[in-house]
Amino acid sequence: MTGEPSPSAGDLPPEEFRFLAHQVADWVADYLRDVGDLPVFPDVHPGFLREALPQMPPDEGEPLEEALEDFRRLVVPGITHWNHPSFHGYFAITGSGPGILGEMLAAALNVNAMMWRSSPAATELEEHVLGWLRDMLGLPSPFMGTINDTASHSTLYALAAAREAAAADLSGPGLANGPPLRCYASEEAHSSVDKAVLTLGMGREGIRRLPTNGRLEMDLSALRKAIREDRDRGCIPAAVVATLGTTSTSSVDPMGAIAALCREEGVWLHVDAAYGGPLALLPEFHDLFAGWEHAESIVVNPHKWLFTPVDCSVLFCRRPEMLRAAFSLTPEYLQSRDGDGVTNLMDYGVALGRRFRALKLWFVIRYFGVEGLRARLRDHLAMAGEWVTEVQAEPGWEVMAPCPMATPVFRYAPEGVEGGDADGLNQAIMDRVNRSGVAFLSHTRVRGSLALRLSIGNLKTTRVHLARTWEALKEAATREAARLS
Ligand code: PLP
Repeated sequence: MTGEPSPSAGDLPPEEFRFLAHQVADWVADYLRDVGDLPVFPDVHPGFLREALPQMPPDEGEPLEEALEDFRRLVVPGITHWNHPSFHGYFAITGSGPGILGEMLAAALNVNAMMWRSSPAATELEEHVLGWLRDMLGLPSPFMGTINDTASHSTLYALAAAREAAAADLSGPGLANGPPLRCYASEEAHSSVDKAVLTLGMGREGIRRLPTNGRLEMDLSALRKAIREDRDRGCIPAAVVATLGTTSTSSVDPMGAIAALCREEGVWLHVDAAYGGPLALLPEFHDLFAGWEHAESIVVNPHKWLFTPVDCSVLFCRRPEMLRAAFSLTPEYLQSRDGDGVTNLMDYGVALGRRFRALKLWFVIRYFGVEGLRARLRDHLAMAGEWVTEVQAEPGWEVMAPCPMATPVFRYAPEGVEGGDADGLNQAIMDRVNRSGVAFLSHTRVRGSLALRLSIGNLKTTRVHLARTWEALKEAATREAARLS
């Protein structure tokens, strides 16, 4: 036996790793500096990459330089650059330098923080940094945070806890013989709520979508009526999902009134603040958020608007024991004698294994500081407000919904263009701009009409970029309107 691995075993040798890591670091630094010069959306056809890649994996290993070269030559040209300062689709998120560095170190450590002893520091950093975040957001101390990959999973887990709290004992018969459970959300709530309800076995009838008012906020009287009706029918109201920052227009459900109703009715309140949550850092948003501190559970995604690379979704739960009731199940090989003083994160969701996601969030909060984060959010809000003013002042263009956060929703509707024609025109304008590579937007429907969304959340976006995008939109509008006529 020698101390060396056999020639066919072992990892990339350390000095080769060092050399390549420097190359990768240089590439990343150049990419982050220059991404604004690339087309936002790639000029590729479906299947382009599959056609370019070998059908079979290599029998023998290849030099990693070749894989890196293919990454640059084949993969990067097919990327939609979310890092681009003119990417405004969906929720225009950025990671950040500190977040990327945290992600790199987490990949290197490659620990699995499923339980305290499987990586004590990873568990404790998650608890600690989420304690910071909770305090930063002004939430009271009973809330315990855990990190999941996405808001979809956070909401699934929250509603599983709600189901646990609502139904007497699910561990034996499951849902089979109990009264039907019902969840409530506005018609503007994210589809992840429906997915969670379906996944949890409450069925399509388990979710009631409620109408909204003129500002696209949940209609409280409709919620009250629905809960009453369901009780009268023998159903159990299990949870209300209120949204702080809806996907379509960033509208905000009336938090205080919903929280009061949930307390009165004894119904679990889950708040989807996946997008809007970080705005609780700003004192000027406290009135809008007032009441969310009474929720049972809240999801906030630092990977949406807190400059943390995907994925990082935080679920705060007032009664974490309800998450444990839903998910704690420990096979023999995971039993430990570490005692009650430690947290085993595997007890708070479906996944056993978990990445060390707290590291990147910790770096982000430390590097920017609370004031730095506030300044960046305010900058995005200011730019969104200016965009709305600009659209309002431009003949033929209209703002389609209030803009309480940083996602203006608007469209081009010159006189005489209505209904399906207006929808088609706006789709064509968006497609033209997206195809040009100058900027990237996505769309929504507001009360049935197609509208464009311009989400501002990228650390690199400036007023110069926005002016360029506005010019591109107006030019596309002129051309597409001419084609229509
Ligand atoms: N909730 C809201 C309000 C969203 O806008 C989204 C996605 O955009 C989600 C939940 C789902 O987020 P995730 O991709 O983290 O599952």
